[in-house]
Amino acid sequence: MHELAVCEAIAETVRGRAAGRSPARIQVRIGYLRQVVPDSLLFSWELLTADTDLEHCKLDIEHVPAVVACRICGNRTTLELPILVCGSCGTADVELVTGDEFDLASFDVVAT
Ligand SMILES: [Zn+2]
Repeated sequence: MHELAVCEAIAETVRGRAAGRSPARIQVRIGYLRQVVPDSLLFSWELLTADTDLEHCKLDIEHVPAVVACRICGNRTTLELPILVCGSCGTADVELVTGDEFDLASFDVVAT
């Protein structure tokens, strides 16, 4: 289960950064090319954090579309399939601009 592994990585990072405090909400940015199913990720998060210190922590997912810059025609296009080709001229000679993200953007900590 890919999403569960992703959640474990998030939980580990959050625990490390929160240093004993309880985050109420965390925001993650996930690129299209990571192929993560949002509903599945939320479900995994609930499963993983049930009865733990992160039980009341809400996961906020921000999706980042995959954008490529073409080295041939110079256009920037958004991918509709996880295949690195220019949407304008069809070449595979492209550079990935966004879409590979997996960042913990921010989290809010409850004052105790
Ligand atoms: Zn092109």
